[in-house]
Amino acid sequence: MRVVSMALIDMSYFLVSAACIGIAFLTQYWIGFGYINSALLLFLLYLAIVRIPLVLNWSSNLYGSVFLRVFFFQVFSIAVYAISYNQSYALGDKFESYWDALYFSATTWTTLGYGDISPTGSIRLLTSIQALTGLSTLPVLASVIWLYCERRLWSKSQEEQGKEDYQLTTDSALGFFVEVESEKTIKEQKQRDKIKLKPCSCSGSDPFIEKYYDIIGVLTPLAKFIVICRSCGEFSKPRRNAYLAAWTWNFKRHNKAFQRTSR
Ligand SMILES: [Zn+2]
Repeated sequence: MRVVSMALIDMSYFLVSAACIGIAFLTQYWIGFGYINSALLLFLLYLAIVRIPLVLNWSSNLYGSVFLRVFFFQVFSIAVYAISYNQSYALGDKFESYWDALYFSATTWTTLGYGDISPTGSIRLLTSIQALTGLSTLPVLASVIWLYCERRLWSKSQEEQGKEDYQLTTDSALGFFVEVESEKTIKEQKQRDKIKLKPCSCSGSDPFIEKYYDIIGVLTPLAKFIVICRSCGEFSKPRRNAYLAAWTWNFKRHNKAFQRTSR
C-alpha cells in the first residue's frame, strides 16, 4: 500500500510540476494563471511534506532524498514564479530579462524585500502568496536537516547496540559525552582484563589495553581499542574490538613469521 501511495504521490508531483511551467507562460494572457500556479505550488509543498514519513518509514537512510525533494521544490517554485512575473503585464516593462524576474522572485520567496522592484496592481497579492509559501518551506527544510543530524548522532548508536558493547551518551546536565555503564559493559571490562598480552620487545613494563572514543571524523562515537607499551609507546592498530587489538599486538608485532608473510 505504501508503494502505491508513494508512486501516486511521485507521479502527481511531477505531473503538477510540469503543468506549473506551462501555466506560468500563460500568465501573459491572464494574471489568474499566476494565481492558479501559486495554488498548485502550495499543493506540491503539501505533497512533499506528506511524502516525508512515507519515505522515512521505508528506510531511515533516505533523509538525503527527502532533503533533495524539498530543496528542489524551493528552487522550482522560485523559477516558476519568476516566469509568471516575467510574463505578467502587471509589472509593466520593469524586467529587462528573465534574470531580473528571477531576482525579484527569489527576494520575494525569502521575504528579503529590498524594495528596488515593487509589485503593482493585480500582482501584489501573488507576491504575498509567494512569500507565504517561501516562509512555510524554510522550516520544512530546517526540520529535515535537524532530523537527519539527530538520526545520525543518536539513533544509529542505538541500532548498533547489539554489535558494539561500548558507547557514549550525552550527559543532559553537563552536555558532554559520558560512557554508558551498562551491565554488559562492566562484564566486557572484566573479560577484557583477562586478555593475555605478550611483553613488549623493549622488555620494559607490561603493555596495557587502552580504550578511547573516536569522535572526530566518525559521527557515531564508538569505542576503539589499542594496546600500548608504557615504556616505549609502541602500539597496536586501533580496532573496534579489544580482542582484535590484542591479537594485532600479540601476532602482528611480535611474530616475525607473520610479519614476513603479511608483507
Ligand atoms: Zn615497549
